[in-house]
Amino acid sequence: RKPNIAIDGPAGSGKSTVARELADRLNLLYVDTGAMYRAVTYFAIKSGIDVENEAELDALVKDIRFSLVRFTKSGTVVLWCNGEDVSPFLREKEVSSQVAKVAAAATVRKRLAWYQRRFARTDGVVMEGRDIGTVVLPDAEYKFFLTASLDVRLKRREKELRAAGKSWTRKELCYELTYRDEMDRKREIGPLKKAPGAVVIDCTNLTVEQVIEKMMESYGG
Ligand code: C5P
Repeated sequence: RKPNIAIDGPAGSGKSTVARELADRLNLLYVDTGAMYRAVTYFAIKSGIDVENEAELDALVKDIRFSLVRFTKSGTVVLWCNGEDVSPFLREKEVSSQVAKVAAAATVRKRLAWYQRRFARTDGVVMEGRDIGTVVLPDAEYKFFLTASLDVRLKRREKELRAAGKSWTRKELCYELTYRDEMDRKREIGPLKKAPGAVVIDCTNLTVEQVIEKMMESYGG
């Protein structure tokens, strides 16, 4: 069977780009777990649910069916919720500013982790998030923890958002990123943390290609 690769790290550390590229090269399924937390947040906002109310979130999350749709022509994998492609909404400001609250709810984490393990059981995956090496796939064959300086992480996010046509000020972005990291680090269940045995890669001064090279070294070439 194909191996599972877990990649964790703070916001803007470069996980998505690297994970997508790695999955492509190794022909593994790419799973962005942040998108799942963002999707729940999007639905919560849309239905006017209080994102700090566990009972309301519990009912909401139980109603969402997640699936990964792989477009064979482009190779991209898109997260669908109840048969709908919600990816255009996941980078909205409101979603970004509320997602860490939704992600603190035990019921949401339990439900999403169940789906994530199911995705990994079907085939080998490159799965990125905050608790993949620690909670979701503790038996993953390869584990990485990516870090980068705040400045570099901010610049990266700015570039991404600009490319997506979204306008954020530096101040808004800085607040959003540091607030989210802090919430993610201090929550009780599945906090952002390096998994035992995970290889730490500081991406501050590395290109995507160099990060991939480092990963491939531990992957065995
Ligand atoms: O990866 P991304 O920045 O899109 O994640 C958005 C948010 O989703 C994180 O800040 C965190 O609150 C939550 N998340 C999580 N556990 C994961 C992945 C994401 O709590 N495995």
